[in-house]
Amino acid sequence: MIAQYLAIKAEADALAPGALLFFRMGDFYELFFEDAATAAAALDIALTRRGEHAGQPIPMCGVPVHAHEAYLARLIRAGHRVAIAEQVEDPAEAKKRGSKSVVARAITRIATPGTLTESGLLEPRRANWLAALTASGGDAAGLAWLDLSTGAFHTRAGSLAELKAELARLAPAETLVPEGSGLAGTSRPAGDFSAARAEAALKSRFGVATLDGWGLFTPAELAAAGAALAYAQETAGAAVPLILPPRRELAGSTMAIDAATRASLELSRSTSRHSLEATIDRTVTAAGARLLGADLAAPLTDPAAIGDRLDLVGWFLADPMTRAATRDALSALPDVARALARIAVGRWSPRDLGQLGSGLGLALRLKAALATRAGAAGTPPLLADTLARIGDGLGALAEQLGRTLVDEPPLELPGAIRPGHDAALDALRETARDGRSAVAALESRLKAETGITALKIRHNNVLGYHIEVPAARAEPLLRADSGFIHRQTMAGAVRFSSPELGNLAARIAQAADHALVAEAAHLEELRAAVLGHATAISDTAAALARLDVAAALAELAATENWARPVVDASTAFAITGGRHPVVEQAVSRTGARFTPNDCDLSADRRVWLVTGPNMAGKSTFLRQNALVAVLAQAGSYVPAAAAHIGVVDRLYSRVGAADDLAEGRSTFMVEMVETAAILTGASNRSLVILDEVGRGTSTYDGLAIAWAVLEAVHDDLQCRCLFATHYHELVPLTAKLAGLASVTVKVREWKGDLVFLHEVAPGAADKSYGLAVARLAGIPAGVLNRARAILARLEARRDAT
Ligand code: ADP
Ligand code: MG
Repeated sequence: MIAQYLAIKAEADALAPGALLFFRMGDFYELFFEDAATAAAALDIALTRRGEHAGQPIPMCGVPVHAHEAYLARLIRAGHRVAIAEQVEDPAEAKKRGSKSVVARAITRIATPGTLTESGLLEPRRANWLAALTASGGDAAGLAWLDLSTGAFHTRAGSLAELKAELARLAPAETLVPEGSGLAGTSRPAGDFSAARAEAALKSRFGVATLDGWGLFTPAELAAAGAALAYAQETAGAAVPLILPPRRELAGSTMAIDAATRASLELSRSTSRHSLEATIDRTVTAAGARLLGADLAAPLTDPAAIGDRLDLVGWFLADPMTRAATRDALSALPDVARALARIAVGRWSPRDLGQLGSGLGLALRLKAALATRAGAAGTPPLLADTLARIGDGLGALAEQLGRTLVDEPPLELPGAIRPGHDAALDALRETARDGRSAVAALESRLKAETGITALKIRHNNVLGYHIEVPAARAEPLLRADSGFIHRQTMAGAVRFSSPELGNLAARIAQAADHALVAEAAHLEELRAAVLGHATAISDTAAALARLDVAAALAELAATENWARPVVDASTAFAITGGRHPVVEQAVSRTGARFTPNDCDLSADRRVWLVTGPNMAGKSTFLRQNALVAVLAQAGSYVPAAAAHIGVVDRLYSRVGAADDLAEGRSTFMVEMVETAAILTGASNRSLVILDEVGRGTSTYDGLAIAWAVLEAVHDDLQCRCLFATHYHELVPLTAKLAGLASVTVKVREWKGDLVFLHEVAPGAADKSYGLAVARLAGIPAGVLNRARAILARLEARRDAT
């Protein structure tokens, strides 16, 4: 057995270096040697030993098969990959070959973070991307990303920097990179990243003669797609995971947002607990939540496409009854996309089929209900398009699933097939049932015949059906002529079999076995039928998610009083009464009110210099305007009274760093690197948010850098920009730079205390109020007085020069 283990372990190491091996032995997955030590520590389970190898005891630990998912989840979360070797023949078969022969085993799957399909191992409301990145130099990098839990498959070409920004958007569970490339991720053989091999693999996988129908892939893009596909297949063993035809994403079709900007704006759940995504999510299905996350992470740049989404939101907003009915219907919807993926890859339960059936039935009913409204004058084109994606042809399949399966199919057989569906199956079940009542009758009869009232007929996995009597009463049954056959003596009981019971047991077992086979055959038939409609089912799931997102955004707009933005090809940026949805929520929890503010970056005031003391609300104001742009282009209403936005091609947001030596590197350096990226990357259609740039160095350096950056943004980039600073020395630049306007977040001093008004108004802060803020923060009076004296002296000296 150990020889077999070592051979399989070597194979696992070749497929997935460093993976732990789950070695199936009966009802357990066992781990041996170093794997056992690692897993026992990670899972906090007992490390035991078994036998010897090379004169040393072999460390071992194990997890029960029926509960292995939870352990697998913990190992994967801890960063491990797990190869699973199953018994691929019946142990009885192995015995026939000879008493010493070992059950055949083989690796059937490698569980890795990016290839999961089990609902217990996945976040329901988040996509689980497996990405592959390759860069052959220059602009010729390629990225592919694949979600094996839904089959979604995308590719994109671009520069390495662009694709790294894409990775920041996707936050993949696992990223494959060519060995020796220096890129961060799971190393894969360079040969896996071959455009030629990828093309062949894609053609055969999707049964097409040419890939041209999907667009013109670059070689790097193909290579990345091929690597993702190869890994998906290799980790799935003999199973065939669900993968939909690849979709090429085109550069420029979405707002470019780099990693630093995403982190600074806290857009997605993966970057922050107080994210925009979490704050505005009113979806009622997991698939809807995933789509909302994807929409927010990739705002569109085509005003027409944005308008289509807004129309659908507006339609749901204008009709609260339909909105409520739709959300109600959707909230009963199972995760159809993920059930389909599990069914495809073969790790599924009868319940997945049941969910799929009820999901499809629900989809068709919802379609019928909404279709009566679509097509009428004033209904949005996206409604009709979305409904059209819900496949009418799926009705028969839904009906077949409903007719064949019980209402709530179990996780495991038996009991998945509806009584009355198959007469032969019903007869087998009847036989088994009759057998069981015959056993009960036999028990009563034996009690009467033997006079032992405590006699029981029991069933267990080792003995099967057997007769059990208390030890004290067993003696007459142990006699040779009793008709009972002794099987086992326990502490307080003795167990017997009898020919009559044996016959009954065999009949029951046979009927139950045959019933199981019949059920499995029905399920297999259903599975084939489902997989025959995989694309239509995926489309339907996507359409339902789109309805959920639109209805959820309408719900949000209605309850939070959001407005429909005007998005066009201009370079306007006019927000009236804008709010920051996340800060607003936090502020209102304290019982306070959020103060709305306007922002107008028209041509003659493209760049706003925002001053004001600490805590005045500068950062909040800057970010809320960026978020309004993101929301609008994602197709959402916005937290404002009105908004007019010319499409933003790239969004940048940077926060000046205070010295933070704990990081071990100069954050000022990082700040400068990020600022450099803006100065080289932004176009005149971009929106740039600079929050106290230059804060991380000495006053004169910082001022000089802030000054030069401001000039460059204004003169060279000519983009829309909000520039918060504590350098009041920059305010006079408004006279020199035609498109520069100066605003301040107002405060008032009242009896020596600072009152924050959170109101953005033209002008500049008259002073920095540092001492007032310090007082607010509880700096002792003595220190404050001393600071006041020093300040007076410094100001006197400055004014003298
Ligand atoms: P600054 O960047 O000027 O130091 P922040 O933007 O970080 O200030 O805001 C500080 C705090 O003030 C926020 O955490 C929030 O509680 C509050 N605040 C900011 N803007 C507003 C507003 N418009 N209305 C109400 N409270 C606000
Ligand atoms: Mg700030």
